[in-house]
Amino acid sequence: MPHSIQSDLHGFRRRGVLFVLSSPSGAGKSTIARRLLADEPELAMSVSATTRPMRPGEVEGKDYHFVDLEEFRRLVAEDEFLEWAHVFNHRYGTPKGQVEAMLAAGKDVLFDIDWQGAQQLFQISGADVVRVFIFPPSMEELHRRLTSRGTDTTEVIEARMARAANEVSHWDGYDYVLVNDDVDSCIRGVKTILAAERLKRSRQQGLIGFIRRLTR
Ligand code: 5GP
Repeated sequence: MPHSIQSDLHGFRRRGVLFVLSSPSGAGKSTIARRLLADEPELAMSVSATTRPMRPGEVEGKDYHFVDLEEFRRLVAEDEFLEWAHVFNHRYGTPKGQVEAMLAAGKDVLFDIDWQGAQQLFQISGADVVRVFIFPPSMEELHRRLTSRGTDTTEVIEARMARAANEVSHWDGYDYVLVNDDVDSCIRGVKTILAAERLKRSRQQGLIGFIRRLTR
């Protein structure tokens, strides 16, 4: 994937981080993503396309690009997705062009995608991908959070609970796992991961020039 990244004071260039946040829905991932984006100007959100119906309060182009099945199939056929998957009874995919544009603009990219997406992204861009999984403190708490959200029917909530158990079982496909017991400390953890990953030597590209000047 084309990358071109900001130079810092010392002329280092850095490859963008593809930062994946996964969790069962209701574990607090959207709150964490929202806070991260507000606090991290160099981070941009990848907005997925989905065939699922819009929930009350969601905004087209901000939460998702809401498309019908025919349009989704066309996007798959035209290779417009970086990854895509069936989640519940719907399809979700990450538009490729948008991610490439964000990286070219010097941003790190945040993905709210499931384990299937994390796996596919890792296959394509392994070295640039950082995968973080957020656990709920307990399944009871997850159920309580899903119910209090008030956006889904009992049937949908039960399906989400069943899927949560499956989602959690894929924890070993992640680089980091955190428990969202307390949202502030969870966000601190996520920010620490991002900060450390940004500093990784393997992402620095201007090093040889810098070392030559240093040792001239
Ligand atoms: P929701 O319908 O609650 O917004 O999302 C359901 C699940 O789909 C979440 O676990 C979310 O992370 C996942 N998801 C959202 N967008 C994508 C995507 O583009 N690709 C994949 N693989 N999963 C996605």
